[in-house]
Amino acid sequence: MGGWQSMFGVISGRLPNCVTQAAVATYFRVSAFRKLGFRGTHSIQTRQQGEKMQIQILPALSDNYMYLLVDEKSKETAVVDPVEPDTVLRAIKDAGLNLTTVLITHHHWDHAGGNKALLAKAPGLTVLGGDSRYLYIYKSSSLYFSVCLSSIHPVILQVSIQYTLSYFRLVFTTPCHTSGHICYYVTDENQKERIVFTGDTLFLGGCGRFFEGTAEQMFTALIEKLSALPDITKVYSGHEYALQNLAYGEHVEPENQYIKDKIQWCRAQRESVPPIPTVPSTIAEEKLINPFMRVQKPAVQAHAKSTDDIEVMRALRTEKDNFKSKK
Ligand SMILES: [Zn+2]
Repeated sequence: MGGWQSMFGVISGRLPNCVTQAAVATYFRVSAFRKLGFRGTHSIQTRQQGEKMQIQILPALSDNYMYLLVDEKSKETAVVDPVEPDTVLRAIKDAGLNLTTVLITHHHWDHAGGNKALLAKAPGLTVLGGDSRYLYIYKSSSLYFSVCLSSIHPVILQVSIQYTLSYFRLVFTTPCHTSGHICYYVTDENQKERIVFTGDTLFLGGCGRFFEGTAEQMFTALIEKLSALPDITKVYSGHEYALQNLAYGEHVEPENQYIKDKIQWCRAQRESVPPIPTVPSTIAEEKLINPFMRVQKPAVQAHAKSTDDIEVMRALRTEKDNFKSKK
């Protein structure tokens, strides 16, 4: 999420939280309507079928993704960042799934803003997250409590997920985009299938803005934590930003053939009618095409005119914040 932050940043501290939440909600709905029209959607719904796990990709707003994580055997399901509850519940009903769990990556409205409405329509869900600011979004008392507890992750997460579908191997705290941001790494019991939900920390070819954190923190998140996952891990991020990110990646590394090839592939996906999501990528791919995952590479350091990894991360983010692709 981008421009609204500056717009609402100044006033949000002075207004009751319910007012700013309503304003943010309106902003996202209007921008989605402008881009997509009435009942529009930015991508077709797709699914990734694994042996034990299935991921359903549900587009939302103008460029968000929600995800259903389905246990193939039991049909028990978790939803990630359900900003559009009606879309989620329709998909659950259509596929005969049993929704039990909500995983929130961070507190921004376009990720956590659907919680209250979802819980009103489907009471009893367990909500997991890492940020006590959910309190400002919720009004309902039961959720209020569980979300409040979830701010002391990962203990609560580990306790809460014992009954769930797959095995949560790790819950990464990745503060920077927001201070309470979490990434969820999930595998099946044999660790053959591996996936990570990265919210607004890691995107295909890019990373989230540093709204509440530092270049050091994003370095820790991307290089020390996410890059350490097995290369085959599939990456499901919070937004469809692939082409914008890859355009910037090509600007940083004009000679990088992996980026050029991925641009071709993503363009074909996005020019399909209707457009097809570019997620998931893999950790291996991100290490080849994502400048923010490549801050230690000589070509990226040369572009940033520094050999200090953190300085490179900072310089890339600053440049990307102002980057406009030519197309
Ligand atoms: Zn965000």
